[in-house]
Amino acid sequence: MKQTKDIYDALPVWTQTLAVNVASARGYRQKYGGAFRRFLAQLEANEKKSRDQLLAEQQEAVRRLLRYTTVHVPACRGRSPENLAEWPVLDKVAVAAEPGKFLSDEFDPRRLMELRTSGTTGTPLAVRFPVETHQMEMAFRWRHKAWGGTPFLSRSAYVAGHPVVPPDQQRPPFWRWDRFEQRLLCSSYHLAADNLPAYQAAFQRYRPDFIHGYPSSLFLLGGYQPKAVFTASETLLDFQRAAIERNFGVKVFNWYGNSELTCNIVECAAGNLHYRTDYGMLELLADGTMICTGLNNPAMPLIRYRVGDRAVAKAGDCPCGCAFPLIERIEGRIEDYVRTPDGRFVGRLDHLFKDARGVREAQLVQTRLDEIVIRVVKENGFDEAPVLAEARQRLGNSIAIRFEYVDAIKRTAAGKFRFIVSQLTREQLELPRL
Ligand SMILES: [Zn+2]
Repeated sequence: MKQTKDIYDALPVWTQTLAVNVASARGYRQKYGGAFRRFLAQLEANEKKSRDQLLAEQQEAVRRLLRYTTVHVPACRGRSPENLAEWPVLDKVAVAAEPGKFLSDEFDPRRLMELRTSGTTGTPLAVRFPVETHQMEMAFRWRHKAWGGTPFLSRSAYVAGHPVVPPDQQRPPFWRWDRFEQRLLCSSYHLAADNLPAYQAAFQRYRPDFIHGYPSSLFLLGGYQPKAVFTASETLLDFQRAAIERNFGVKVFNWYGNSELTCNIVECAAGNLHYRTDYGMLELLADGTMICTGLNNPAMPLIRYRVGDRAVAKAGDCPCGCAFPLIERIEGRIEDYVRTPDGRFVGRLDHLFKDARGVREAQLVQTRLDEIVIRVVKENGFDEAPVLAEARQRLGNSIAIRFEYVDAIKRTAAGKFRFIVSQLTREQLELPRL
């Protein structure tokens, strides 16, 4: 994959655009073929059901899933198919240790799709799923877009970590146009103050109906008014929401999901967060710890999975008319930036560990403007090269990167894991403004 990326980066822009479109055309059928339209209609119908009906259907789906997994999934054999509460809580380390035991024997592993994640803890995990689950996931995403008034295949711009622009490119275009999905794929890795006006000009030229992206990327941008802005993949911080709504002049619709496909919490037009009972079953422990059971991936069902985030429930109904239960707020996944010497702010660096093996935990420490330390709790088989290559892709060559091996990664006073620790001064961390 690394080699493919090097070849891509060396191509002229028009050939890169062609490559993006070839990949998009290939992905299009996988995403929107088969049962996609049926799933989309089904999810829309669910949004009109009463809460009692939704919860009854969820109970039935959980019962079906438990009966299925106790027969077909090695890790679940011998568990009670009747009582979810008796199942032990799983976490990422447990699943990553023996991922094969969580696969259903009804699926051919070679035909499954795969999503690699390292998340905020740096532990890599490959989640496998069939193409139907992929289509269902797309249906959930497009239903949420419809909540913002931008239905399936609305024109869009994404600033969400797509590596479509070589990291050391100095001049625009910092985006590539995907005509199959009618979307402008923008780089999240070129958001230096000097480059921001070029992004604004691109929005004005391509006129997306909605803009979707990481909060840490979008809050640097603006100067164009779409119908809605969607944020995902990171905790949406209050100051980021305020800046995004001010700079784009429209409401932000936040999306919470996870690569393990176990939980979906989405913001509606009334500004409330709804937890979709047709996506997964969410249990909240007394301290807010989220325990999730995904309902739509029969190939690798994760039951009572601790995603590592916390949430607070909220009583009552929503004026938007949709009966999915309410969530007051989601905590955790506070991400930070690394600032590069050439002035870029780069977030979502947990991607560095997506393809890494032998990493139990990892943390990035920015010690100086021109140096980061990658702290790793390593296990057998760890290799620096792929991590370093990913880091160079995102951070460029003007920053020194060194590895440090530790037995454990220290938690904060509040017991929280911080993926990025910045030792820069306040002045150095001052963010660019439009
Ligand atoms: Zn609502």
